[in-house]
Amino acid sequence: MSDPKAVETEASNFIRDMIAADVSSGKTSRVITRFPPEPNGYLHIGHAKSICLNFGMAQEFGGYCNLRFDDTNPEKESVEYVNAIRRDVEWLGFEWHGNPFASDYFDQLYGYAFDLIKQGNAYVDSQSAEQIRETRGTLKQPGSDGPYRDRSIDENLQLFEDMRDGKYADGEHVLRAKIDMSSPNINMRDPIIYRIRHISHHNTGDKWCIYPLYDFTHGLSDAIEGVSHSLCTLEFEDHRPLYDWILDRLQTPSRPEQTEFARLQLEYCLTSKRKLNQLVVDGHVDGWDDPRMLTISGMRRRGFTPESIVNFCSMIGVTKKDSHIEMSVLENALREDLNRRAERRMAVINPLKVIIENYPEDQDEMLTGVNHPQDPEYGNREIPFSRVIYIEQDDFMEDAPKKFFRLSVGREVRLRFAYYITCQQVIKNDDGSINHLVCTYDPESRGGKSADGRKVKGTIHWVSAAHALDARVNLYDRLFNTRSPGAEDNFVATINPDSLQVRENARLEPAVEVTGNQLAYQFERLGYFISDSDSTQQQPIFNRTMTLRDSWAKIDKS
Ligand code: ATP
Ligand code: MG
Repeated sequence: MSDPKAVETEASNFIRDMIAADVSSGKTSRVITRFPPEPNGYLHIGHAKSICLNFGMAQEFGGYCNLRFDDTNPEKESVEYVNAIRRDVEWLGFEWHGNPFASDYFDQLYGYAFDLIKQGNAYVDSQSAEQIRETRGTLKQPGSDGPYRDRSIDENLQLFEDMRDGKYADGEHVLRAKIDMSSPNINMRDPIIYRIRHISHHNTGDKWCIYPLYDFTHGLSDAIEGVSHSLCTLEFEDHRPLYDWILDRLQTPSRPEQTEFARLQLEYCLTSKRKLNQLVVDGHVDGWDDPRMLTISGMRRRGFTPESIVNFCSMIGVTKKDSHIEMSVLENALREDLNRRAERRMAVINPLKVIIENYPEDQDEMLTGVNHPQDPEYGNREIPFSRVIYIEQDDFMEDAPKKFFRLSVGREVRLRFAYYITCQQVIKNDDGSINHLVCTYDPESRGGKSADGRKVKGTIHWVSAAHALDARVNLYDRLFNTRSPGAEDNFVATINPDSLQVRENARLEPAVEVTGNQLAYQFERLGYFISDSDSTQQQPIFNRTMTLRDSWAKIDKS
């Protein structure tokens, strides 16, 4: 997978094959899909897989996809989440056809529940939640019928109406589908389809005090919207019999079919909104869009491109088998995209001052740098040069081994786009630390080529001190130390304490825009960086999006 060419290939996708067969057999006349998030948190990389699949299949087969909010749990849902989800789907580059709420269908759903009662297929149960749990049985043991199971249809209809009219408190009654308490599938043991909750809903306000449950709502919403292929993750496989049971009994505008695929599980990351929420609420991260979180908003702030995420999703394919995807697959998809598109700049993260003693004190000049080494269309920029520059501390070594092709006393290197310099002297502080280097430059090597054909092995980046922009730089590492934090009992204990390192004294060349970048820069030899959403002209802040794969190898040869 590390082969960058792999990015271009489409991995297998059994759902595409299935839809293609349905279309060619005439079973499906129009491909209609939906992406159905619950607005109880921000979207993450796992949702991206489902978004790419649902929107992607609709696009490919000339149909459409709805963005539907599955909002049946008013306690946990909010308008903030609704807006964040819309923004993230748009940013990924997808256009929805409709953008309904499942709660828009509450009237219809109430009617469908009424129909089930009239058919004798649903009843009001007045047992306590605890009693219901106890009579439900276990995986090994069947459940047992409760005392209210054979209520008359009329009594059920009256009770259900009274539930809706607010005559009962939370938990006094529930409406259950009347299926089979001894079914081997626990989901079929008279599942609850409506419950009483005296609570405001973000969309319907105080209109309702009874709310339908997810399983009842989901299939019927699909049917109301004419969804042809209802694609969901594997944990819903055991719910499919219930999905079908409900739709088989009601007169709906269409008859969708559910198909399940494997969730995306990515190493070193969490893909559960509940757990991500805990990280946010307990302050382990700086909000839902913390650049270390693989939420869509965090990835945007980190500098991921939507193209790289969509590309990643097509690389991993769609199967029925659970598997963990290596983080490097995602990272390489991003590198591949940014390598092609990011403009190059120079920046120094850990500055070491260099004084070029034979360069005139009152002089400076403009040198030319290419914005993209492989693509001349990106053009050039001017880079100021002067007597005092900064280089990276790592690019100097006092007792350097032979193969150290950077700077050391008596050794010569090329400054990228500038001159050859030779280190003459190290000036130290009283405590022995290095204060600055004194170097000389070869005026005949302007642009990085010596007049006498003399070669140097190393090329290092630099920034002119007088012209530099001061910046704070955030360097990231994995947020978790363990491969699958989601499987840990205490995932908080596996947080990597060094996942964020801040460099306060970085210096950027002046051609760097410090706010509002849509696309990361490549800071040569350091990686890809994007201005943070909090970055200002007064306090530039850059986030390292990703390191370069082989940061030294390439440029040392150039
Ligand atoms: P979470 O556990 O994070 O809340 P969820 O499945 O409950 O996830 P929903 O808002 O219900 O979140 O998800 C919307 C859609 O996204 C569903 O169809 C769900 O199957 C899909 N989805 C969620 N997580 C993943 C994942 N890791 N991989 C693929 N699809 C996912
Ligand atoms: Mg869910």
